[in-house]
Amino acid sequence: MTNKPKVAICWLGSCGGCDEAVVDLNEAILQVADAVEIILWPIAMDFKYHNIEAMGDNEITLSIINGHVRNSEQEEMAKLLRKKSQIVLALGSCACFGGTPGLANFRTKEDIFNWVYRDAPTVINPKGNYPQPEVQVGGRELTLPEFYEDVHTLDQVIDVDYYLPGCPPPPELILNAINAVLEEKLPPKGSTLTPHKPLCDTCPRNETKPDRLALKEIKRIHEVDADPNTCFLAQGILCLGPATRTGCGEACININIPCRGCFGPVEGVVDGGTKFISSLASILDAEDEEEVKRVVDTIDDLAGYLYRFSLPASLLRRRRVGEETNLKI
Ligand code: SF4
Ligand code: SF4
Repeated sequence: MTNKPKVAICWLGSCGGCDEAVVDLNEAILQVADAVEIILWPIAMDFKYHNIEAMGDNEITLSIINGHVRNSEQEEMAKLLRKKSQIVLALGSCACFGGTPGLANFRTKEDIFNWVYRDAPTVINPKGNYPQPEVQVGGRELTLPEFYEDVHTLDQVIDVDYYLPGCPPPPELILNAINAVLEEKLPPKGSTLTPHKPLCDTCPRNETKPDRLALKEIKRIHEVDADPNTCFLAQGILCLGPATRTGCGEACININIPCRGCFGPVEGVVDGGTKFISSLASILDAEDEEEVKRVVDTIDDLAGYLYRFSLPASLLRRRRVGEETNLKI
């Protein structure tokens, strides 16, 4: 045991990319490991949950939690870390907004189970078994986490102190966040630890973005040979930069891919999708509603495009089918 600040790094519904971003601190991770006592990091080290349960409340200085919440194990872990931690940082788009797994909220749990355990061409399930939270096998009870109706953001389950979005977040911003905790230089609770500007403000192509755009058609990046130096919107290619927070280092733009919105909406905007629809409406060169409809209809899966990372955090939140969530919050 040491007197160093205790740090937990934990994944919930995660692809592992956010943990990989922590590993990508490279040599700096040695300084972090020297300055703090890591007491939980399931992807990298063998710690036991019961050791966390045995800790005192607020004994952990910082819990860095990535991934969304969709099952009872993830909910239980989020609540345990909240109880034991002074500060909780939601790391990555999944924790902050639901992330790409949040697109599953366009489907019901029943749809998903039917596809995964019955209808997908590679499934062989002659007895039609679906996973059950509890099952008796040889006189013994086996349990699985309960799969919830929806994907939830971390702050729909526990109180979150700070947010660091990105899919995944850049390692430099992760290091800044850890240093801010260690040096007690944190902004007000609830802050997002990134610059508070839209991506267009820092984009190297901004100079080529006309003051007034008038698009007759919308293209997607795979349909054209995009000029690597010209604003995507000026080329008629969908780019969510006007409605997305900067801080990513323009990682996608720099490899000639338009912004897909993983940093979420800019400060003060609740719903990035509607914000972008508003921007889109102002740049379409259409005479009447019919013309607007014709252009918008050329965009495949507009809702999926606009809410690729943020459906569970949006005003829409989920497909409306009448059922309520079974999350116990
Ligand atoms: S935010 Fe992106 S990198 Fe991080 S867990 Fe989610 S999908 Fe993976
Ligand atoms: S619309 Fe996209 S490409 Fe154009 S300036 Fe904004 S972020 Fe850059």
